[in-house]
Amino acid sequence: MEAMLTESGWKGMRDFYASGTTRTYQFRKLQLERLKVAIKENEEAISAALFQDLRKSKEEAYTTEIGFMYAEISHALKHLRQWMQPTTVKTPVVLFPSSSKIIPASLGVVLIIAPWNYPFQLMMAPLVGAIAGGNCAVLKPSELTPHTSAIISKIIQETFDPNFIKVIEGDGAQVVPGLMNNYRFDNVFFTGSIAVGKEINKLAAPQLVPVTLELGGKSPCIVDADADLAVAAKRITWGKFTNAGQTCVAPDYVLVHKDRKAELVKHMQQAIHNFYGSNPQQSSDYGRIVNERRWITLTDFLQQGKIIEGGKTDKEDLYISPTLIENVSLDQPIMKEEIFGPLLPVLSFQHHDEALQIIKQNPNPLSLYYFGNKKENQVKFLDEVSFGGGCINNTLVHLANAELPFGGVGNSGVGSYHGKFSFDTFTRPKSVLETATWIDPSVKYPPYKGKLKFLKWFFK
Ligand code: NAD
Repeated sequence: MEAMLTESGWKGMRDFYASGTTRTYQFRKLQLERLKVAIKENEEAISAALFQDLRKSKEEAYTTEIGFMYAEISHALKHLRQWMQPTTVKTPVVLFPSSSKIIPASLGVVLIIAPWNYPFQLMMAPLVGAIAGGNCAVLKPSELTPHTSAIISKIIQETFDPNFIKVIEGDGAQVVPGLMNNYRFDNVFFTGSIAVGKEINKLAAPQLVPVTLELGGKSPCIVDADADLAVAAKRITWGKFTNAGQTCVAPDYVLVHKDRKAELVKHMQQAIHNFYGSNPQQSSDYGRIVNERRWITLTDFLQQGKIIEGGKTDKEDLYISPTLIENVSLDQPIMKEEIFGPLLPVLSFQHHDEALQIIKQNPNPLSLYYFGNKKENQVKFLDEVSFGGGCINNTLVHLANAELPFGGVGNSGVGSYHGKFSFDTFTRPKSVLETATWIDPSVKYPPYKGKLKFLKWFFK
């Protein structure tokens, strides 16, 4: 394990990038294939690490972390050659005889910083973009999920040239400032909290390092008067309690039409029982809170309303049962901070504007979910709320489509990734205009006297 990047380690990466090796199609393709094989060979170990760190079931680990990576790598492999092609664009006549193209240029050496909640996938998915983009990468996994951090480090060391990809482990507050102050990365891709995202921005500013920030926020879930409640309840319950609510795009709270609240709650209680049994602590499909500090914050939230389902806790086991809570006040932390745990406040509204006002208390959520079938109502919420991405009549799954950019806006982040959008994030459009030399009209050169009439005609 490496806890710091040495001068010689950095120089090795810079030289490797400068050699041009990482920028060829063959190299990028081969490295993506090797990553896929390495994940396959280590599938058991990755799954075991995720169980140790977050008590994720094998099935959940496979769908949300491992299988997700196969899909992302396969998609990149399928399209890489095409993504790398320059795009020819039109050239105005005034620039005759010229042609213009946009080349997707690699960035250089990038830094990718991951959080603990999907500690494997949120490290590896950006890496796919970095490799596809022809870059070298330094990876900094979360120290709060040490088993996953260790298996990431092992896979990278066994699979890649250390001048191409390196893992630096350790406490982010110590390690990251050291990395960003001592070395100038060509992009920093950060996934994590808003507070640390701001720190990353500050660290990046002095050297004008571009950043991609994938942050969090309070993602609302609106259930309108005409929603199919049985389906909505299952999809909301699944989206909220997967990974014990520790999902950046989990519905943070529900806003349900007041006439449908009681019925929705009944359906959600039923869904919780169907998914996790009468005692979710015994369910192999239900996760745990990452650490004691987070467990304490979440159990404090429990005091801030009336529990209508769940509310069971066990500190030793870092367990909090799937919980529905009502009568929360908009001024309390539970409605001001991202919950990021298995507590779902259920609020009601009568008119859409009331719901919108509540949502706008926490501007720019990462996601928004709307349940209801009337087009004009869907459009109202899609149009009036500034949010990263979301679903109509579903939760979470927008991030599973590689054709959709995944990212936030304002407080929830800067930039996006997945599929081609990862490639775009880890390259930059380099503009090139080429002019033929067989003709070189003198009108554009001084002396200009007497040419104004012609120039005016040309630019009209
Ligand atoms: P965090 O911000 O505490 O940590 C993220 C990473 O930053 C870790 O690798 C950590 O070591 C490092 N870090 C911590 N303190 C630092 C500092 N002072 N300076 C530099 N680096 C530092 O986030 P977390 O608790 O690991 O993750 C939870 C947050 O991440 C939630 O807010 C969640 O919404 C968000 N998140 C967002 C997405 C997304 O895709 N938008 C995905 C997952 C999680």
